[in-house]
Amino acid sequence: MPNKLLLVAAENERMRGIVSQSSLTRGIVHRFVAGEQDHEVIAVARRLTGTGLRVTIDHLGEGTTTLEQAEGIRDTYLALLSSLHAADLAAAAEVSLKISALGGSLPAGGYDHAARLTHDVCAAAAAVGSTVTIDMEDHTTVDATLSILDELRTEFPWVGVALQACLRRTAADCRRLAHAGSRVRLVKGAYAEPASVAFVSKREVDDEFRRCLRILMEGDGYPMIATHDPKLIEYTLRLARDGGRGAEDYEFQMLYGIRENEQLRLAANGYRTRVYLPYGRDWYAYFMRRLAEKPANLLLLARSFKPG
Ligand code: FAD
Repeated sequence: MPNKLLLVAAENERMRGIVSQSSLTRGIVHRFVAGEQDHEVIAVARRLTGTGLRVTIDHLGEGTTTLEQAEGIRDTYLALLSSLHAADLAAAAEVSLKISALGGSLPAGGYDHAARLTHDVCAAAAAVGSTVTIDMEDHTTVDATLSILDELRTEFPWVGVALQACLRRTAADCRRLAHAGSRVRLVKGAYAEPASVAFVSKREVDDEFRRCLRILMEGDGYPMIATHDPKLIEYTLRLARDGGRGAEDYEFQMLYGIRENEQLRLAANGYRTRVYLPYGRDWYAYFMRRLAEKPANLLLLARSFKPG
């Protein structure tokens, strides 16, 4: 399970300053983040799609505090989609976004701003033949995120959403969203959640992932199985075989920089595989969650501080 101290550090402003401003962390950050600018992420997207992978690009940033910031993030997504179109990548590359980045956590009218700005991004994606998947943040945001999803899907039925197996409510959410045309990305969950709403042990979360996966794979939607866990990937393949689900009726997703050989192996064997490709200057919280998932990554960080 994610390391709780590192997850707390992910929310800490002082730590954000120290880690973000150290030039020494840059090397390891680049293992997980595709760069800070549009042209850098487009170059990485071109390289990955050239190997048969698909990508979903996330402009990093969350917990936006002003409407101007939220509108700026919307504009960044519009520019990104236009660059993907110009680079002829819009079919193999979609975008992922966070409701909090688009204003969801603003104290006044956050929900309405996020709904409007997310709608703008979906309209731009539709115009270039791309798609959008909404990331899921901590449990307090799930109702608002799913409600925005429902509104968007009336106009853009292809909008996807992430659901977190660690949450006790998720099996019910999977059942509701396992219908034709519905794109659901199943993840274990990357946030520190209280036991009142979440399973806390690794075994419970893995068991719940299997349960949610069965619901999605036996349903009529399009499951996006986002895990690096070899046992769960194997289990997905077995469910697909047993249920007669074709390789074009679901996809695997993994994070940029993690189990890259496995990503290539799945794609080479004919399984749709999409890489989650984050970029942007505000990489701190994302980077800390990746450290929290695998504390061995801290060794890489420690080595990057050593001279020579
Ligand atoms: P784990 O049991 O954590 O890992 C299995 C194996 O994968 C590990 O043994 C290790 O070999 C490798 N591995 C996993 N993580 C790392 C790492 N950081 N560094 C190095 N190796 C690693 N979470 C959300 O809460 N909301 C989201 O919207 C969301 N979107 C995601 C989108 C994608 C495409 C993916 C792949 C993950 C997303 N996550 C999201 C994160 C997810 O919730 C997990 O925290 C993360 O995927 C690690 O869980 P795992 O399923 O890989 O299993």
